[in-house]
Amino acid sequence: MNTTILGYPRIGAGRELKFATEDYWGGRADADALAETGAELRARVWTALRDAGIDAVPSNTFSFYDQMLDTSVLVDAVPDRYRQLTGFDRYFAMARGVQDVPPLEMTKWFDTNYHYIVPELGPGTRFRLADGAAAKPLAEYREAKALGIDTRPVLVGPLTYLLLAKPAEDGFRPLDLLDGLVDVYAEVLERLAGSGARWVQLDEPVLVADRSEEEIDALARAYARLGQLTSRPHLMVATYFGTIGADALRVLARSRVEAVGLDFVAGPGNVDVLASVGGLPRKTLVAGVVDGRNVWRTDSRKALATCASVLGLVDRVVVSTSCSLMHVPIDLDAETTLDPGVKGRLAFARQKVAEVVALGRALSEDAPIPDGAPLPEAGVDRAVRERLGSFGDTRRGDRAARFAAQRDALGLPELATTTIGSFPQTPEIRRARADRRAGRITGDAYVTAMKDEIARVIALQEDLGLDVLVHGEPERNDMVQYFAEQLDGYAATDHGWVQSYGSRYVRPPILHSDVARPRPMTVDWATYAQSLTGKPVKGMLTGPVTMLAWSFVRDDQPLAETARQVALALRDEIADLEAAGIRVIQVDEPALRELLPLRTADRPAYLDWAIGAFRLATSGVKDTTQIHTHMCYSEFGEIIGAIGALDADVTSVEAARSHMELVGDLRAAGYENGIGPGVYDIHSPRVPAAEEIEENLRRALRAVEPGRLWVNPDCGLKTRAYPETEASLRNLVTAARRVRERP
Ligand code: GLN
Ligand code: ZN
Repeated sequence: MNTTILGYPRIGAGRELKFATEDYWGGRADADALAETGAELRARVWTALRDAGIDAVPSNTFSFYDQMLDTSVLVDAVPDRYRQLTGFDRYFAMARGVQDVPPLEMTKWFDTNYHYIVPELGPGTRFRLADGAAAKPLAEYREAKALGIDTRPVLVGPLTYLLLAKPAEDGFRPLDLLDGLVDVYAEVLERLAGSGARWVQLDEPVLVADRSEEEIDALARAYARLGQLTSRPHLMVATYFGTIGADALRVLARSRVEAVGLDFVAGPGNVDVLASVGGLPRKTLVAGVVDGRNVWRTDSRKALATCASVLGLVDRVVVSTSCSLMHVPIDLDAETTLDPGVKGRLAFARQKVAEVVALGRALSEDAPIPDGAPLPEAGVDRAVRERLGSFGDTRRGDRAARFAAQRDALGLPELATTTIGSFPQTPEIRRARADRRAGRITGDAYVTAMKDEIARVIALQEDLGLDVLVHGEPERNDMVQYFAEQLDGYAATDHGWVQSYGSRYVRPPILHSDVARPRPMTVDWATYAQSLTGKPVKGMLTGPVTMLAWSFVRDDQPLAETARQVALALRDEIADLEAAGIRVIQVDEPALRELLPLRTADRPAYLDWAIGAFRLATSGVKDTTQIHTHMCYSEFGEIIGAIGALDADVTSVEAARSHMELVGDLRAAGYENGIGPGVYDIHSPRVPAAEEIEENLRRALRAVEPGRLWVNPDCGLKTRAYPETEASLRNLVTAARRVRERP
């Protein structure tokens, strides 16, 4: 083989998988219809890859929901609560839950925006090959073969599977299940060999994060066992999303695996690591030189130079993508409205496959690279660059002085009540947005509809007795896209869907050039809301890190630089809001933890620029203007110190599920500003009783003074309906009052 890819989008160019699964869930289609759509999508991908000239086509990269979930099903790691169900119903119950049976947990796949279903493993877990010869990787291998395509089945590697699992009970270590798991993998490999498979890909992305000695030993044990099988396909161990550890690479080098995949895009350090372990003299290197996670065209000269630099260190080099292409949209050709200057810089999955093929030819046949149109350059905004140069340390004034100034200016009670920003997005709101997009209503009619909604939301909040109000965000389709559409330097796609989880796909905007704010983005809505009430209305913005994390971002300059440009645009927006009389401004950073580098050593530098960008955005205001921030989680771990460094006056976080423990944790980490621990979980329609919220508040008050405690739900309300929202907020206000009255 000369060329391969590690995986391909499975959702279909027309989002067929989404519609088929949702039809099945909704009872509009049966299991056979769903299975048939799956088979069609797989066949389409395999034939397209073969026809494009990829030598080694992967299989088992299709999934009806998620590849980690598929692995759990493959090895029968099915918790008892799902066992009374079968087939698709069991599978989707594990992913999404059914009445009275909660789903497995879901969490982010490394530092991507893809979410996987977390295996739940305990002392009672007994792995076995659940479906024998009908198991998914075997069935899909045969299915492709019947189409005349000999594929390389892809499996989540045993180490990655266990290290990403969650213990079913405290103190249990999933890694202790390694030997039993490897037995099942051995059986899969033997059966695949029996069916004629010549190669298998085992994905071990956990090897690009810090690993303990014990984990490295486990790696050695697992691959020694698999390597020794007498009848097995060739083994390719793929790593991606960063630089492999030298200890892990040494283990693989000594093992009998025939090929190792390294990601030279996210892990340029892989060249050095490879050299430091003396290369892989008798093995194949699958060189990930085409970025599988971002949308930019490959610089073929650079990619070839990377391949050339490692030629002497390995037996042979196969050109590949850095990771599965499932993280990028499918086809650039479907985009007809993109600016040509931007489009000329892009490659989606289909285009990246062509790049891999061309690079493979160039490498093996010394064929010249078909030099497509030259890469256009990013747009430069000199004014933005000059202004950015003038900001030094961007810290706000003395914290105590700010606290006093805001107390006097805002006149808020202790345990001030507020919400995180969005109110329920009703069908009417969605319809108005869709009508506006489709040109069925005029801009004026749209503005009127939104203003009516804002007026309703303000009146409701007054009635509920909340202290700091919001306008409710009815005009926002999405907290990143809304701003991306208004900033220079960003573009939107029409069909650029990427799977986020299950049938939820997102269309991330593309940040391609210098970012600038041609005009205010939120001021009209905020000031309209403020004009309706004497209470402070909180302005609502998305922070620089989140603006990058949920977009495809230019890779021709450091992220830190791009973050500062976004921050400057936000700084200007904040100044305009302040000048327009908005006294409280929230800058959401739900993605702050998400972009945290996988390796500990890289984290300080990341936090440094992330914090710097937030402070650049928020430090231009007067002491009387109160800055809030919001994050949707409570496990701060590595970033707990960063929360204080952001220097927001108030930080709201998720805390209900962990019984307010976070408040004490934050204080212990030196955080001294206002804290709004989410006092109830908005992710379910359940209405919390006032007593329950009261208890949470009293618990929080053990760690924070009443003047610094804020009372709010744990996230925005946009996914909720009005009945439970009103009832919950009423109880929230009641609880806050009770605690104020009887501290
Ligand atoms: N202000 C946003 C909202 O309320 C925050 C969303 C988020 O944290 N993900 O919807
Ligand atoms: Zn949130």
